[in-house]
Amino acid sequence: MIFDPTELMRPNIKALTPYSTARDEFSGEGITAWLDANESPFDNGVNRYPDPHQKELKKVVSELFGAPVDTIFIGGAGSDEAIDLLMRIFCIPGKDNIVTIAPTYGVYEVSAAINDIEVRQVPLGEGFSLQIDALVEAADDNTKLTWVCSPNNPTGNAFSIEELCRLAEKIKGMLVIDEAYVDFSTKGSMLPLLERYPNVIVLRTLSKARGMASLRLGMAFAHPSVARAMAMAKYPYNVNGPTQKEVIRRLQATPDIAPDVATLIAERRRLEEKLPQVAGVKKVYPSDANFLLVKFDDPDAVYEMLLRGGALVRNRNRVPGCEGCLRITVGTPEQNELLLKLLEQ
Ligand SMILES: *Cc1c(COP(=O)(O)O)cnc(C)c1O
Repeated sequence: MIFDPTELMRPNIKALTPYSTARDEFSGEGITAWLDANESPFDNGVNRYPDPHQKELKKVVSELFGAPVDTIFIGGAGSDEAIDLLMRIFCIPGKDNIVTIAPTYGVYEVSAAINDIEVRQVPLGEGFSLQIDALVEAADDNTKLTWVCSPNNPTGNAFSIEELCRLAEKIKGMLVIDEAYVDFSTKGSMLPLLERYPNVIVLRTLSKARGMASLRLGMAFAHPSVARAMAMAKYPYNVNGPTQKEVIRRLQATPDIAPDVATLIAERRRLEEKLPQVAGVKKVYPSDANFLLVKFDDPDAVYEMLLRGGALVRNRNRVPGCEGCLRITVGTPEQNELLLKLLEQ
């Protein structure tokens, strides 16, 4: 039997006729008078609606990430847009549920709550390890999505491709792998395996390693039926024109982010070495990302002290599973020096 993701979608989504924008019907070939969309005719650079399908941008993304165009969804509010869309496409409010690991990225739970979807959290095991059997057991026939963030925020560790494949083979419903930090990891990506696993959806973002958080561009790679459903359910012009242009320009100008990534990984290693020698540091957790989860004797006091010294970190002390911890982003060498200097005082 061939797995068909559409079977898992909400009936109203399966039956949806997408809104057809003025810009859907014509490519613009040979048109000199655009009188179809009630825009201002005076050219100021932003007076025309942008391409609702982001065709040029998808071509660039397709080449750079090695994924067919019909498997790509692009969101103009970051991957948070993809997260919310997936909830709305697959989960019936008040009836369906999602499964997540814990601790993990908070947006899955908030988006589920907004959409009135039950969240079943499965704690990570020893050393923040993936509990495959527990995740499978937590899922039932109403589980439409299981969310695994790898490398995981805030723990920093990535799960092996072998483990994620095993989970994909066993889990009910769709498996979403959030790879926001994958560029910093040596454990690999699920993206090349999408064809083998039609129940897997991979989330990527330009906000982290690619340095474009302000542009708010997120991507989902999925079975064409899922990418199509996301395109139907999104706001028609969800990625604005200047963002489409700017992202194309930047991706083409700097397709290779290896140098920046190498710098940050070297800095992460330096912090991983130095932090354990600092008084009050209990543990530095292994990281496959551009941040470190660090356990302190008195995390709240350290947080306040760093703040007074001009270094802002994320206090995760009250997150279940992260008690005692601060999450510290790897900065420039100078910023990391400041951090170490403040901590050593
Ligand atoms: C930062 C982050 C994202 C990116 O979100 P955007 O909305 O694309 O900026 C996604 N997932 C995780 C786990 C993150 O930490």
